[in-house]
Amino acid sequence: MGERGWQKELTTAGNKGMHNDYQGCLTDICPVGALTFNDFRFEKRVWFLKKAPSVCDRCSKGCNIFMDSEHELIYRYRPRHNAEVNGYWMCDEGRKSYHDFMNPQRVVFPMARSQSEDRGMHSTTWDTVLDEWYQQIKRSNRTLVLIGTDATIEEAEEIQQELASLVEGELEFRSINGTNEVKSSEDDEALDHLLRRKDKTPNTKGLESLGINPCEDEFEKKFDLAIVYRCGRALAPPKKMAKTQVAWGLWTKEEIDEYELVVPGLSTAEKEGTFINCDGIVQRFEPAIKPCGKSKGVSGALLLLSQRVDEKARLAHGVL
Ligand code: SF4
Repeated sequence: MGERGWQKELTTAGNKGMHNDYQGCLTDICPVGALTFNDFRFEKRVWFLKKAPSVCDRCSKGCNIFMDSEHELIYRYRPRHNAEVNGYWMCDEGRKSYHDFMNPQRVVFPMARSQSEDRGMHSTTWDTVLDEWYQQIKRSNRTLVLIGTDATIEEAEEIQQELASLVEGELEFRSINGTNEVKSSEDDEALDHLLRRKDKTPNTKGLESLGINPCEDEFEKKFDLAIVYRCGRALAPPKKMAKTQVAWGLWTKEEIDEYELVVPGLSTAEKEGTFINCDGIVQRFEPAIKPCGKSKGVSGALLLLSQRVDEKARLAHGVL
C-alpha cells in the first residue's frame, strides 16, 4: 500500500509490477474488488452475466471454468473449482482465450471459392456448399480426413462413422495438433509447476482413445480431397495435403487461402461434448451461448450432407 488517506494506492514492493502467468487469479480472490482484470474491467455489470459451467480448451489441462455471457457474447472466463484438475485457479492465457471465438475474422457463414478468374472466396448458402461438398466427395478416389485434437470425442466419432458411410473411395482418418510441435500426447509436458501445458489443444488423449493416429508430414500416396475439421485451437496443416481441400469447423479468413470450401462449425462455447485431459480425466461440458452466424454443429452439417447424398443417389437411379 502506498501513500495515505485519499491518496492511498495499491502497489507492489519497489513498484516492480506483477509479471506472472496467473495474475488474473488475484482478481478472483481480492476480498474488496480493488483488483480487477484489465480485460474485463468496466466491460459489463456482473449481475447481467449468465454463467455456464464449462472447460477451458486452451491447453490439454482442461481447467474447469465458468463462461460468463450476455446476449450470446462471452465477456469473461473464470475458474470453477475442481480439486482433481485446477483447484480454484486458471492461467491468464486461458482466461483471455474466449477472444479467439469472438474474433470478427472468424468465418461464420458458408464460403465457396469463385469459379471466375479471381478465384476469391465468397459467402454463400448452405445449399451451395453442400452441393459442392457432395460433388467433391463423389469425385474423390482418395480422401484424407484430418480431425483436430480440439474436436470433442463425440464429434470425432461421428465424423469417422458418417464419412465412412458417405465416401466411396479410399478413406484415411488422422489427427492434427500442430501446437508447439506437439503431435501426440507423448510430446506434451508441463510448462510450469502449476497448470499450463505445452499441448495447446484440449483433447489429444480423447482422439487417441478413438485410435486416430497423428497426421504424417509426408504421405506416400496422393489424396484427391482433404477434409480438415478443427475448432480454432489445433493448427491447420502447414502445407497442402490434397488437390482439393475443405475447411470445416472454426476458421478465420486469413487461414482459408488453400481451401475451396468453408463449412462453418462451432466453438467449445457453443456446443456440448467431452474432452479427455492430459491426466486422462474425462470432462463433459455444455454450451454457454448459441451458435454464431450460420455455423452448425457436426451432427447438423453431416445430416444435411447425408440427405444430399441420399437425394442425389435416388435421382441418379430415377427414383422420386
Ligand atoms: S492451464 Fe490450460 S486449460 Fe487451464 S486455464 Fe490455462 S490454458 Fe486453460
